[in-house]
Amino acid sequence: MERLKNKIRDIPDFPKPGIVFKDITPLVKDPATLRLTVHQLLHPFLGREITAVAGMEARGFIFGALVAWELGVPFVPLRKPGKLPYDVQSVSYDLEYGSAELQVHIDAVDENDKVLLIDDLLATGGTAKASCELIEKLGASVVACAFVVELDFLAGRQLLRDYEVHALVHF
Ligand code: AMP
Repeated sequence: MERLKNKIRDIPDFPKPGIVFKDITPLVKDPATLRLTVHQLLHPFLGREITAVAGMEARGFIFGALVAWELGVPFVPLRKPGKLPYDVQSVSYDLEYGSAELQVHIDAVDENDKVLLIDDLLATGGTAKASCELIEKLGASVVACAFVVELDFLAGRQLLRDYEVHALVHF
């Protein structure tokens, strides 16, 4: 996992002062490391029933779509409000300041689906928890949440305690 860590770049004070942004663009720029990352993300789920992979806008699309492709299952984009063209289900969640919303097409998954949720990074867990709720609002079940990076000091795993959580590298 050192190989992955070496391809994640710290950008201090982005997008605002005090935040150290974990930039995964060096990782996706390197095909061998990207391939390794995708295989490590899906490894815990080989032989398990996954019928769809959902990814959160925007970096969750990169890893989620590649995992879905490898597993041979549909990819479900979870998007910010106003981006999806068809009928949507929505969920709101609290941010440090204010609130945010995620949406999914109402026909993206149904009660027969077992969904693997993928994002680049687990911070406070608010985005992932809302994403799980959104999937569940459509009647599907969440098998697990998998992340490339987990920021351990923000305790996102605690917020996701009702779910199986995997992360490849920890800071
Ligand atoms: P949270 O809801 O706090 O777990 O935040 C997770 C979402 O925000 C993910 O979609 C991440 O891409 C993004 N994010 C939060 N903190 C960072 C960070 N330090 N570096 C990069 N992305 C972050």
